[in-house]
Amino acid sequence: MNSKRVAIVTGSSRGIGAATAKLLAGKGYRVCVNYRADAAAARAVADELVSAGATAIAVQADVSLEDDAVRLFKTVDKELGPVEALVNNAGMLLPQMRVENMDAGRINRILATNVTGAFLCCREAIKRMSTRHGGRGGSIVNVSSAAARTGSPGEYVDYAASKGAIDTLTRGLSVEVAAEGIRVNCVRPGFIYTDMHADGGEPDRVDRLADSIPMGRGGSPEEVAHAIAWLLSDEASYVNGTFIDAAGGR
Ligand code: NAP
Repeated sequence: MNSKRVAIVTGSSRGIGAATAKLLAGKGYRVCVNYRADAAAARAVADELVSAGATAIAVQADVSLEDDAVRLFKTVDKELGPVEALVNNAGMLLPQMRVENMDAGRINRILATNVTGAFLCCREAIKRMSTRHGGRGGSIVNVSSAAARTGSPGEYVDYAASKGAIDTLTRGLSVEVAAEGIRVNCVRPGFIYTDMHADGGEPDRVDRLADSIPMGRGGSPEEVAHAIAWLLSDEASYVNGTFIDAAGGR
């Protein structure tokens, strides 16, 4: 019954978001590929989906900016219809650093994208999904991180704390809108092979840490995407306010 549902996957020009957009399109969703800066990459993802027979658009919007987040959802209203599935995947980190060296500019940048962006997108989604506002319900999956549990000491405690906020957002919002036809759940990936680690200053970070993972290897974006897609789907119709750790047992 997922056929033709409208999905927005924030930050889906690459990595876990791109894998999720592709999986959802394959399941029949009409997909909005959102990105912040890399138009060519987002276009390539959307084009691949369209070539495979899906309906997909690419929409630039920095989710940390209120006007951009509002425009993202309005564009989707117009081009695909009201959103019924939201994946709050857009996230960022900055070079590894101890807390004693972090300035306010860095901390606020992390929080703006990883926390404010997720809140704004939840807000816009609820306005459209909630039966309280005449909507038909929907499903939201937030992408947190195993870092919310470990705290990422010596690497990026700011990033880890932003993911702790996502866990709390998931729990609180899931109860707030549970009676309005909306489920809110969360996936916490572990060490996944994406380009994000290069942004943290260590492209080979997953390989360095592989031995510390109980399963002995890093994960693929597709392995995370499957957990996201299941939580979005009707197969998870009685699952709300919960977390899937896609972290190889970590
Ligand atoms: P990634 O490869 O760095 O991709 C990030 C995506 O988010 C890109 O499409 C990027 O678009 C977009 N983006 C960044 N800031 C944005 C903003 N303000 N507004 C809109 N889009 C924005 O990341 P990833 O590794 O796939 O991670 C995806 C999610 O999983 C993130 O929330 C991350 O924290 C989480 N996660 C990842 C790992 C891991 O090991 N990779 C582990 C745990 C959790 P542009 O390129 O256009 O800027």
